[in-house]
Amino acid sequence: MDEMAKYGSMETTQGASPSVLLVIPVFNEGKAVYANLQVIAAAATGIEPECSLQMLIVDDGSTDGTVKELARYCSDEKRARWIGFTRNFGKESAIHAGLDHADADAVIVMDSDLQHPPELIPQMVALWKKGLPVVEAWKSGRGKESFASRIFAAAFYALFGYFSGLDLRGQSDFKLLDRRVVLEYRRLSERRRFFRGLVQWLNYPSARLPFVVPPRAAGQTSWGRWRLLRYALGNLTSFSALPLQLISWMGVLTLAVGFVIGSISLYKKWAGVALDGFTTVILLIVFASGVLMLSLGIIGHYLAKIYEELKLRPHYVLKDIFPGLEERR
Ligand code: UDP
Ligand code: MG
Repeated sequence: MDEMAKYGSMETTQGASPSVLLVIPVFNEGKAVYANLQVIAAAATGIEPECSLQMLIVDDGSTDGTVKELARYCSDEKRARWIGFTRNFGKESAIHAGLDHADADAVIVMDSDLQHPPELIPQMVALWKKGLPVVEAWKSGRGKESFASRIFAAAFYALFGYFSGLDLRGQSDFKLLDRRVVLEYRRLSERRRFFRGLVQWLNYPSARLPFVVPPRAAGQTSWGRWRLLRYALGNLTSFSALPLQLISWMGVLTLAVGFVIGSISLYKKWAGVALDGFTTVILLIVFASGVLMLSLGIIGHYLAKIYEELKLRPHYVLKDIFPGLEERR
């Protein structure tokens, strides 16, 4: 309750009704995006007139006519604006661009495919008004998903929790952030972003609203297995250097194995027993080079990350921007 009191003073711009902005990343959602946005806006309208509602749609370099639909939507819906990238930069960058251009007392980040039920928006806003700086929609069920996807997600969250100390199970990108959380988020300067992880890392008091992930409204997910795996590995290593330390342990293990096998060989030599040495040599070479390659790979991965970060390239490049909309950073 103390926390609530501490964060309870909702500062709004010029004492007007607090403004809530929906940030919606979109990539190749086709014709469905117009109708989906209408559904989202209709559900979110429940927060008016106590709050003023705005929408910021971020086109992540779509190539399928989504842009046209967005322009049409924004000319029909006066509360909506959009910005667009020159190419596909990824959902994380789209969220980042949305937060960079946000100027609202609270921002709600959500998917455009209705897998984040917009009916939750009024409840999220109500909790925020009670003084909670972060409101997270919590996946109490992952909906229809293949067995492999479930195992993959469970393995990722377990490893991530172990490596980074942050428990992200059930977390989604469907979140409400108070203005000051958005400002803090913008201050984080890393290129490689993991929205869920970073919000958790900021560690503001938060409320959770459970939801079951409904099936996609239309189209299909753009996250193939390979892309997901790379995303997962990238996020793991962004939040932890433990794999690097594991290399030392692998070295200790290899030494121990080498010591045992070496001792056996020496003993056999001294005892005058014929050595079945060829197999041993092959085994040792295979084992040692495997460990070495893996270690080099892990180091290489971190090196590549450092290189990426050092280049200081922008997180995204804008092609289209709604007139009058500007970056707030
Ligand atoms: N998305 C995006 N950039 C991408 C991939 C996806 O902005 O490179 C958007 C997409 O349009 C949707 C949201 O991110 O609004 C979630 O994407 P998707 O439904 O493909 O992911 P999933 O629900 O399978 O995690
Ligand atoms: Mg989806």
